[in-house]
Amino acid sequence: MFSKVLIANRGEIALRILRACRTIGIGAVVAYSEADRDSLAAQLADEAICIGPSDARRSYLSAPAVISAAVVTGCDAIHPGYGFLSEDEGFADVVRAHGLTFIGPSAEVLEHFASKEATRRLLEAHGLRTIPGSGMLRDEAHALEEAERISYPVLIKPSGGGGGKGMRLVRTARELEATFKVSRSEAKAAFGDDALYMEKYLGDNRHVEIQVAVDRFGHAIHLGERDCSVQRRHQKIIEETPSPALTEAERQDLCQRAVRAVVEAGYENLGTLEFLVDSRGEAYFIEINCRIQVEHPITEMCTGIDLIALQIKIAAGEPLGINQADVVSRGHAIEFRILAEDPSNDFRPQGGQVLGYLAPGGPGVRMDSHLYPGYEVPPYYDSLLGKLSVWAPDRAQAIARGDAALRELLVDGLTTNIELHRAILANQVFIDGKVTTDLLDRVGSAPFVAAGNR
Ligand code: ADP
Repeated sequence: MFSKVLIANRGEIALRILRACRTIGIGAVVAYSEADRDSLAAQLADEAICIGPSDARRSYLSAPAVISAAVVTGCDAIHPGYGFLSEDEGFADVVRAHGLTFIGPSAEVLEHFASKEATRRLLEAHGLRTIPGSGMLRDEAHALEEAERISYPVLIKPSGGGGGKGMRLVRTARELEATFKVSRSEAKAAFGDDALYMEKYLGDNRHVEIQVAVDRFGHAIHLGERDCSVQRRHQKIIEETPSPALTEAERQDLCQRAVRAVVEAGYENLGTLEFLVDSRGEAYFIEINCRIQVEHPITEMCTGIDLIALQIKIAAGEPLGINQADVVSRGHAIEFRILAEDPSNDFRPQGGQVLGYLAPGGPGVRMDSHLYPGYEVPPYYDSLLGKLSVWAPDRAQAIARGDAALRELLVDGLTTNIELHRAILANQVFIDGKVTTDLLDRVGSAPFVAAGNR
């Protein structure tokens, strides 16, 4: 096992990793940018080190800054969290070249799964159904040809993409002509890679993902699924497990196929396979995330397994130590992403000082947040203020608990989406477990915001 881990991330996930390190009994050093000097993780850690200015490119995204911080503080491993350098094979390679361990898949595994388009084909070859789509698009003429073959509407996707960014729905050839070049330059600007591919646009779909864990000895388990269908502009807002979209038999089948496919394809460490499920219950693989996910707490609440501790263990070369039969998922859990944005003003991000903060409590309530009264939310990073997760024996009780906890949660001084969450919980489509990924974008958030303010 490692003796000391450098936490190369910020916000709630830095705190979460710190907690895992303490539980396992290993040292941790929090790496922070100048803007995060007063962060809760930096304050709570036994050791913290500044890795550069507020601009993430010169701190959290700078491999030299992160690696020298690990060397100077005597760490033997680096946990990248999610985002930033977490799926960067070049970084994982340099970490290893410095005699340190990257907590995640090896550089080779990351490279093997780096292209979304290639991974689609790879996992299709290992038995997972995919949505009809194209290979890498050479140019506009090729894109038009492929869209004709697949039939409109299609979704243009950046192969190096993530976070729901850069995807474009195209309904006609004319729209494709108007957007192809723009998509290409957007992908280049956002991901440093202008490779695009295309998928048939699936209406009325639900987002269901399977959590897997694979150790260095090829021993693998799944930890069930998460339903992330409540989204805005392809970004998840509420996640729950189990998914109301699947029957028990469908769940078992999908989980087993997912875990078999990734092992055969050579995957290692913690990972999440994302699927879209159509109105007939058919699941199509869309991508794999080679890191810990934002929404991991709901899986932890139902299985009782500490996923970050498990991830560290796998990276340290230890066997999983649990078999599939040991994984028992109990009850129902829901996570709400608490964001500093204004739903009544086009979800504009909100910066500023937290004047008051009170986290909810009680049975089955968990708050992962780096907020404290007086904390100044830096304007440089994403708008995630924390994650409120609730657990209960069944879905109806989890919804009731979620609403009670959201009522208790106080974030004074910033505009947040707390009321939007309450409105979604009260919505009949959500209560019926029938939300599709396009719901909020289709009906707009206005009915929800209005209902939430009642
Ligand atoms: P990213 O890597 O940017 O997160 P994904 O490929 O995981 O992108 O897709 C994110 C979301 O976009 C999905 O959860 C779904 O809402 C929507 N989406 C992706 N592919 C399709 C598709 N072929 N048809 C309809 N919606 C899609």
